[in-house]
Amino acid sequence: MKTTVVLATRNAHKLREIAEILAEAPVVMRSLEDYPQIPEIAETAETFAGNALIKAREVFAQTGCWTLSDDSGLEVDALQGAPGVYSARYAGEDKDPAANNAKLLAALQEVPDAARGAQFRCVVAIKGPEVEKIVEGVVRGRIIRELRGSAGFGYDPLFIPEGFQETYAELGAETKNRISHRAIAFQTAAAELRRLLAPAG
Ligand code: IMP
Repeated sequence: MKTTVVLATRNAHKLREIAEILAEAPVVMRSLEDYPQIPEIAETAETFAGNALIKAREVFAQTGCWTLSDDSGLEVDALQGAPGVYSARYAGEDKDPAANNAKLLAALQEVPDAARGAQFRCVVAIKGPEVEKIVEGVVRGRIIRELRGSAGFGYDPLFIPEGFQETYAELGAETKNRISHRAIAFQTAAAELRRLLAPAG
């Protein structure tokens, strides 16, 4: 018996990425594309977990289905964890990735190489009947001084994960989707879901 699990996103790219990670789990994946009546849910919390839970609770309330919701962003050491939950709108409400990257480069202009550490964090909320669970994935790395690579999105051209010489944008989708903060968070969520959905006994 497969359980319907709703991924609280309208982003087709994310759905594909996460459906691949959950391919072995006994679930049928849906997304908010399947529930057009659910309006945009405002991410008003101050933490990734808070935002992920807001979305997961709302979608669970409206669909009655197990729900996975994620929130993610970039935390830069020299900026005391900024832009964090404000990653998408770091340079303004129009959520322009090029402007965000330019603002980040400017903010770090005087920061020496040794102090350019950063991490991507992805938090996933799992919401089911009488279940609320938070898991996360973190990838450490550093912010370089110029954009490199054309794959991916957001801050990808500025972030080199630990253990690599290439940015997320140079590594390409296949490698990134294997090692990313989102991959780690959803692999952990998939394991948790399997456990939660396993028949008792
Ligand atoms: P969301 O959790 O998908 O809403 O992501 C929030 C924001 O964090 C994005 O708009 C990006 O600015 C940033 N972000 C999250 N994950 C990534 C990533 O894998 N690469 C680059 N930027 C990311």
